[in-house]
Amino acid sequence: MTVHQFNTGRDDELAVRPADCGLGHACQFCPKEPECTLDKPHHEKRLLELRLAQIGQIILVMANKGGVGKSTVSANLAAGLAARGFRVGVADADIHGPNQSRFFNQVGQRVRVSERGLDTLSCFGDRLPHPVQVGSLAFMMERDDTPIVWRDAYKHDFMHHLIGSFDWGPLDFLVVDMPPGTGNELITLSDLLEQQAVAAVIATTPQQVALMDSLKAIRFCQERGLPLLGVVENMAGVTCPHCGGEFQLFPRAHLAEALAEHRVASLASIPLSPLLAMASDSGAPVTMDQPESPEARAFAPVVDACIEHARQESRQAASEELQALVTANAEELEALLSDVPEEDRAQARRDLEALLAGEHDRLNPERNDDR
Ligand code: SF4
Repeated sequence: MTVHQFNTGRDDELAVRPADCGLGHACQFCPKEPECTLDKPHHEKRLLELRLAQIGQIILVMANKGGVGKSTVSANLAAGLAARGFRVGVADADIHGPNQSRFFNQVGQRVRVSERGLDTLSCFGDRLPHPVQVGSLAFMMERDDTPIVWRDAYKHDFMHHLIGSFDWGPLDFLVVDMPPGTGNELITLSDLLEQQAVAAVIATTPQQVALMDSLKAIRFCQERGLPLLGVVENMAGVTCPHCGGEFQLFPRAHLAEALAEHRVASLASIPLSPLLAMASDSGAPVTMDQPESPEARAFAPVVDACIEHARQESRQAASEELQALVTANAEELEALLSDVPEEDRAQARRDLEALLAGEHDRLNPERNDDR
């Protein structure tokens, strides 16, 4: 590496930073890669920082077991958030079964690489206030039926590409459809997103075997300090299309007791329904396509929980920023107070403190409820 590859950092005048090409795609997709002498790890790091700085709340939709409808929950959560007016992306991290392309009616589409990065596919822009942006490995494969046979190092790289190389643009929510289990992909993403506003939702089904596996995912969140919004029970009962009677298809485990024991909220019970199956196949999530259906209404508490969590996080961040601002400007505030006539100074100080306390209370209403 030569000296001309460094320029002075903007924040710290004494810092030297590697120069960057400013391109929005990873080096792996770059035609200049063979002859490029820039610091490539720095470029990849900068890409991630750039993308993450534009994303508000990240929601990991997890399941410790395959086949419990995690992708259905991800797609309907994303579409439900978008239907409420938020800018939403769906990152399909399920490397061995990337099927968000089907849920958003994009099967067969392929991604383009531009200087801004890998293009996400914009979905339902004609039906939603903002189109849902979908990024998936499915858009990067030559054929849809190609099996993925990757060692962990490739999976690790793909997780970085998924967040850093796709041109997500500004988003209020990024919903990540995680692969089943608590393996490499989850650990890589959890490490990558450590400083971000990130929370998890766990999808499960009523059977004992699924519940046992879900408890592992719950423990993963608790041990990693990953905020867990709650559990979505999928395939929770069937309504007979002839008589309207409800019955359970699977033997029910003691989900409610297990969640209470682990202090985890039950967010929603989603029925096993032909409508959901058809919506998944036709690529139109019910939360967008049929918002008044019982199935869409069943998803509403999950959407509400994500919005409420994001609002709390944002208020907390604003409150911390305000506190940091006051601390950083303490000397200036004292200087301003010293300009106030002595007889009024104590009152001015009390007014200022009351103003700041009021602002903190406004930003942290739940903290006030605890008092
Ligand atoms: S190889 Fe990487 S660092 Fe070099 S120009 Fe291409 S994207 Fe930029």
